[in-house]
Amino acid sequence: MPKPEITNRNAGFFKKDLETMPPKKRVEYLNQKLRGVIQYAYKHSAAFKNKLDSVGLKPKDIQMIKDLEKIPVTKKTELMELQRKHPPFGGFEGVPISELRRIYVSPGPINEPGESEYNELGWAQGLYAGGFRPGDIVINTFSYHMVPFALQMVDNSLHRIGCVVIPTGVGNTEQQVNISKTLNVTGFCGTPSFLFNIAEKAEEMGFNLKEDLSLEVGFVAAEMLPESLRSQLEEKFGMIIRQAYGTADIRCLGYECMKKNGMHVPDDKFVEIVDPETGKQLGPGKTGEIVATTFNKVYPLIRFGTGDLSILTETLCPCGRTSPRLIKILGRVDQGTKVKGLFIHPGQVDEVASKHPEMAKYQVLVTRSEHKDEMTFRIELKEEISQPEKLKEEIERSIRDVTKLRSNVQFVPKGTIPDGAKKIEDHRTWE
Ligand SMILES: [Zn+2]
Repeated sequence: MPKPEITNRNAGFFKKDLETMPPKKRVEYLNQKLRGVIQYAYKHSAAFKNKLDSVGLKPKDIQMIKDLEKIPVTKKTELMELQRKHPPFGGFEGVPISELRRIYVSPGPINEPGESEYNELGWAQGLYAGGFRPGDIVINTFSYHMVPFALQMVDNSLHRIGCVVIPTGVGNTEQQVNISKTLNVTGFCGTPSFLFNIAEKAEEMGFNLKEDLSLEVGFVAAEMLPESLRSQLEEKFGMIIRQAYGTADIRCLGYECMKKNGMHVPDDKFVEIVDPETGKQLGPGKTGEIVATTFNKVYPLIRFGTGDLSILTETLCPCGRTSPRLIKILGRVDQGTKVKGLFIHPGQVDEVASKHPEMAKYQVLVTRSEHKDEMTFRIELKEEISQPEKLKEEIERSIRDVTKLRSNVQFVPKGTIPDGAKKIEDHRTWE
C-alpha cells in the first residue's frame, strides 16, 4: 500500500474562526453559549433543574461565566448516586433515551448517553492541532468496548478530519506492529505506555522503527505523559507526539498544539479552576480542581468536578490559538492538601525533586504551630555533599517557584523516610 504524502502538519486549524477568536470575543461567545445551555438543561435535564432549584436559582440568574459560581459543583460520586436512583443517567441526560444511538458503560459503573450525530469539536481540534491530516492511516488502539472514548469520540473525530481509521483496539501488540507495517500506518492513537509497548515489540521483531514503520503522528491520552517518555518515543519513531486530556463524561477538556505549551481548552467547553472545598473560581495561575461545563445538549453537564488538579493560563500561545490552556494535569484533588490557603499536591513535590538530582527520597510534612501552617521538606540525599547549605537554599527557591509557599528544608539520615511513604504527610490537628 503506498504511503500517503502529508505535509503541513505544523500549521493550520480545524476551526480557525473559533480557535483564533480575540479574547474579548471569546468571552462573549462563551457567555452566549453558557446562557443557551443553562436554559436548555433547566428544561430538559431533571438533575440540573433539581440542582438549580435546590439553591433557589433560575436560569436567568446565570448570565455570564462568573455567575457559574452560584451553582454547586457536581461531583462524580453524586452523579453515580443519582444514576443508581434513577438509571440509566440519573436525570443528567438532555434528550429522551429513545433518541440515543448508544449507551456506554464506564468503570464505576457510570452510564453515558451516546448521541446519534457526534459533532463535538474538542477531540477533532486536538487531533488536528497535534498534526493529524486528511489521508492519514491511523491505528486507534484505545478500547472500543463499553466505553465511549475510542468508538464515539476518537473514531468519529478522525473521520471528521478525513483520516482513515483501523479500529485495532487495545492489545495484540505483535499484530499492531504487522498492521502498521503492511498498511503504512502514519498515525497512532492510544496511551503512551501502549506506544512504548509497540516500540519494544517492533524492535524485538527486528524492525527499525524509523525505516520499517511509517508512523509520523501520535495522539496520546488517558495517562500521564512524562516528557522523557515523549522525547524517547518521538526520537525512536521520528514522529510527533501530542497529548490531550478529558473524561468519558465531560469529554475533551484540553489538547496540545505544536508548541507543547499546555493544553488548549476546546471551544465547546468552559473550564474553571476552583477551590475544591468552596467551589469558588481561582483564576489563572492558581492550582485547583478542574470543573467543566459542556455545551452538549445530549449530555449537558454543568459545573462537573473532574477531581483532577491543574493550573489555567490565559497568556497567548504562539500557535495563534487564543483559548486558555491547562498547564498540565497535576494529580488528584484527594491526594493534595491545603497549606496556608494554597493547594499543594504530590505532583508539585515531585516537580521540586526533579530539579535536584541530589535527592534520593523526599517527603513533605505539614504541621501547625501557633495557628500557622508549616511545611517541611524532608530529604534523604543520595550521598553526602560538600556544601549542604547552598543546596538547601536552592531547594527552598525551587519550592517557592513551584508551590508559591515557603518551606523548611531538612536533610535527614538515610532510612528516615520509610519506603512507600506518602509524598505529603499531614500532621496537623485542629482542636
Ligand atoms: Zn498553542
